[in-house]
Amino acid sequence: MARPLTAAVDLEAILHNYRYAKKLQPSCKAFAVVKSNAYGHGAVEVSRYLDKEADAFAVAAIEEAIVLREAGIESPILLLEGVFEGDEWSLCEQHGFWAALENAQQMDELIASQAKIEKVFLKLDSGMHRLGVDKEAAPGFVEALKATGQVGEVVLMTHFACADDLSDLITMQQLTYFEQTRQSIGEIEASVANSAAIMKWSVPEGGWIRPGIMLYGISPFAEVSGRALGLRPAMTLSTKVISTRQLKKGDKVGYGLGYEAEEDHVLATIAVGYGDGYPRHAQNGTPLQINGQEACLAGRVSMDMLTVRMQDYSVAPAMGQEVVLWGGDVPVEEVADYAGTIGYELVTRMTARPHYRYL
Ligand code: PLP
Repeated sequence: MARPLTAAVDLEAILHNYRYAKKLQPSCKAFAVVKSNAYGHGAVEVSRYLDKEADAFAVAAIEEAIVLREAGIESPILLLEGVFEGDEWSLCEQHGFWAALENAQQMDELIASQAKIEKVFLKLDSGMHRLGVDKEAAPGFVEALKATGQVGEVVLMTHFACADDLSDLITMQQLTYFEQTRQSIGEIEASVANSAAIMKWSVPEGGWIRPGIMLYGISPFAEVSGRALGLRPAMTLSTKVISTRQLKKGDKVGYGLGYEAEEDHVLATIAVGYGDGYPRHAQNGTPLQINGQEACLAGRVSMDMLTVRMQDYSVAPAMGQEVVLWGGDVPVEEVADYAGTIGYELVTRMTARPHYRYL
């Protein structure tokens, strides 16, 4: 028997979530953001499923884009981080990639390459101070890009620092800064919105939205789950009980003896660990389900195994029973919270070890 750890990815749910993003911003075209292996869901599988429907895909870097082209993806693909080396521009031309651009060096390299690029997304630093040109420099960059004769169209893009925090005024300030810059340039398409902005902020009409985490049914907001937002969680990580033992009150379990039984109960060992991507920092009490019933982590996470117990001490877990780590009724956002992180990180750092099944 193979190790029973499975990551089941519901591709129909991802399509539903993509359509949902477009429904929320009906005047916009939408990228499907599939960087970092589609947030751990499998970039090739996800992109193949969406290829007929998606307006375009977005990845971080050219290596990710080439993998998709070689897998037969025909839609446009945007490199969100742009190019890192000048010789990537000619590869962009060869594969028809679009690229973000955010500094003078990239501009010089583009000109030196003589590559023809259909769309360049000029990054505006509207307040995140990570990448991008400022309001004063942006019109000159647009002019210079047009003057090359190499670029079909320039789109003005920016990224929000705090769109997931609805009480934070910085998003409004970033939007105002963006609009002022846009007006100083004249007619230009816009691309501003990540998942949080698509769902909760009023973003410019038209242009391009960039949904990432919401495609996978995961909430960008700390206080609300993807399901509660009308999304369909795409990944279910499940395994089986591979061993059980009766504990007595006071018995301790696992590395560092990090769990102590408060009552007599049956402990189950299950086949999943941090070597699969389950978070090493998940604490005792992290929710999961055994055989459809509420259960939780009991002991430190090992590389290949976890120890768990039923919430209801009177129910004994049994060999071979199905365990859901996240997905279904176990929100990945809640698991992430117990591990001191966010849903983004849990799915993105999944390893190749689980059996991936596409539904
Ligand atoms: N746009 C850019 C430039 C990004 O870097 C990201 C992700 O980090 C996204 C869009 C998608 O963001 P989210 O996953 O929050 O929707």
